[in-house]
Amino acid sequence: MDASDIRSYPARITRLGELALDLSWSWNQRAREVFRRLDYTLWRTTAHNPCRMLRLAPQERLEEVARDSRFLELYDDALANLDRVRRASGSWWCGRASMPPGSVIAYFSAEFGVHQSLPIYAGGLGVLAGDHCKEACDLGIPLVGIGFLYPMGYFHQRVNADGWQVEAYERLRTEDVAVQRAICPGGKLCYVEVPMAFSSVRVAIWRVSIGCVTLLLLDTDVEENTPWDRELSARLYVSEHEARVRQEIVLGIGGVRALQSLGYKPAVWHLNEGHAAFVIFERIRQKTEQGHSLTDALREVRASTVFTTHTPVPAGHDAFNFNLVDHLLSGYWQSAGDRRNTLLALAGYDDGGGRLFNMTALALRGAGAVNAVSRQHREVTWKMFSPIWCGSADEPPLQAITNGIHIPTWIAPALSQLFDHHLGPDWIDHQDEVEFWDRVLLIPDEDIWKAHQALKQHLLAFIRERARERWTNEKVNSCQVVAAGPLLDLSVPTICFARRFTSYKRPNLIFHDLKRITRLLTDSRRPIQIIFAGKAHPADDPGKRALQQVYLHALDLGLAGRVAFVDDYDLHVAHFLVQGSDIWLNNPLKPLEACGTSGMKAAINGVPHLSAADGWWPEAYNGKNGWMIDSDPSGGDAAEAECIYRLLEEQIIPAYYEMGEDGVPRRWVAVVKESIRTVAPRFSARRMLKDYATRFYCPIATRSSLLLPS
Ligand SMILES: *Cc1c(COP(=O)(O)O)cnc(C)c1O
Repeated sequence: MDASDIRSYPARITRLGELALDLSWSWNQRAREVFRRLDYTLWRTTAHNPCRMLRLAPQERLEEVARDSRFLELYDDALANLDRVRRASGSWWCGRASMPPGSVIAYFSAEFGVHQSLPIYAGGLGVLAGDHCKEACDLGIPLVGIGFLYPMGYFHQRVNADGWQVEAYERLRTEDVAVQRAICPGGKLCYVEVPMAFSSVRVAIWRVSIGCVTLLLLDTDVEENTPWDRELSARLYVSEHEARVRQEIVLGIGGVRALQSLGYKPAVWHLNEGHAAFVIFERIRQKTEQGHSLTDALREVRASTVFTTHTPVPAGHDAFNFNLVDHLLSGYWQSAGDRRNTLLALAGYDDGGGRLFNMTALALRGAGAVNAVSRQHREVTWKMFSPIWCGSADEPPLQAITNGIHIPTWIAPALSQLFDHHLGPDWIDHQDEVEFWDRVLLIPDEDIWKAHQALKQHLLAFIRERARERWTNEKVNSCQVVAAGPLLDLSVPTICFARRFTSYKRPNLIFHDLKRITRLLTDSRRPIQIIFAGKAHPADDPGKRALQQVYLHALDLGLAGRVAFVDDYDLHVAHFLVQGSDIWLNNPLKPLEACGTSGMKAAINGVPHLSAADGWWPEAYNGKNGWMIDSDPSGGDAAEAECIYRLLEEQIIPAYYEMGEDGVPRRWVAVVKESIRTVAPRFSARRMLKDYATRFYCPIATRSSLLLPS
């Protein structure tokens, strides 16, 4: 879709389509106001999708706003900002690395969570990749993301009256989304061919603009392909092995070819998780074709590849039968035949179940710079993959770069305004300065409390409207309406548990002692309430059963409507939850949470974290900025649940209900401020990107520019 294709605009606002087609609008307050002011009803009913809004907005309305001086002021500001963001001149990155023109940092990821209107993400990994791109844009880092356009997206979730998750797929309408077909330097639509078994798959390339960052999305739904190949990139994370390998071959090999056919010359190749590790095969193949020896090619590839590993859960590391991969690469070997054994050997790994083709092993061997996503995760990863490093004389090249979140995306506007006032209007430029955030202590308690109450009200209204919709449009029964949360109470401390439903995250741990939690939920003087949200992977039956158990509690009359399940968790729902709850609960089975990021989003919004000592939390917890679930590991689930109850009974509930004369709970607000003060600077995507840039991107890019003939 071309910007002008959405429709035609009145002369004064011809660039409105351009603004909608660059997703940097999503964290620019002025741009958001442009669309909100254009048509508030459409803004809400499209779940903030400007491309769709512009297709639906009546022509008279466009004529009207083209004469509205307040609108035009916002519009001019938003476009000036867009131009500035695209130029990236004077940015942090400028002059930091000497990269030849056209050279970029290629960032491969199987999912990207940039905005809810582009549903090509499933969860934490994708949202992190989206935040990575946004922050790269803010810092002026010339990054090009490579992923998939999944035309069937990730599923929409409903829960039936028995509590069983029902999945519904909705076909993406590219005309309603900020994607455009990528055009090759010669002016033609961009396609690449990827060898697959004895034939090949044709891949179309789409482009997404995020300020100075570009995202390239591969799409196999092309007429010339067989029906089976057209489906190849339809959905995220198919569980069937052959389809999965096919996807990963397209991402890795097709991704390299897509970048090249569009004229990009990556200086750094960053693999976000192992799904894209076939990049290593393709780059080695190309280098040997150009005359390098295999050893030199591997050395060169390693020197310019960064790999980030994201999970200590064994099932999270893709491993396939050698025969399967070998077969699917049959055509590929025609041009890389004599390198076949060496290439295959790079991926061989036995994690206890026999030697398999392991994508993580391939990435670890093919990348010269490797990082885990928290300090603790680094220790776990080291142990997990020690066979790969053992025998090497050097220190394993494994670093820890703790994840961070894109603050402009996640901060509530009401808090952002408070920061403007008390921290200074340029606070966003200081977001990763630890001491700067001491200024949070200057914000009057009542202001922060009032702002949070408004956000909580906003969340409860959102939940109530969803419940109403399910009741009126989807004809769910009345118990299901209650389970959706309309009885939630503004004055009651609200715990939120929102994340993927999977066994190691233990969604129903808090119900371990049902009598005890029931007493806390239904206390007549000082009750609590809990909101759950999250999807289970369609093939994860234990995850679905955990979801069902939680849902049955939400249906339980004995819990008096104080447990709610909000369905179809996505970026949109996540915004309401991290900004409007009171306590963010995280109780994974240690040490399986590599990092976790939703707790960071909550913490910077003054929603303190109640978490196990897993992932990022041991790095952040200081005894005053939230609570740590810490019990004797031999005690198992019971001991940890006990610890949660005691924290609630002895610390959290008393502090929340201890109101001063002015109706402000001082002790509570102190935790809220401490949470913002300590988490914002150290767990921002700004800190994270600067870590990646200074430790990896700059040294690698500088080195590669020295090798190039000038
Ligand atoms: C942040 C986020 C996640 C990741 O949350 P974790 O705490 O890391 O599990 C998943 N889904 C959505 C929609 C998010 O915004």
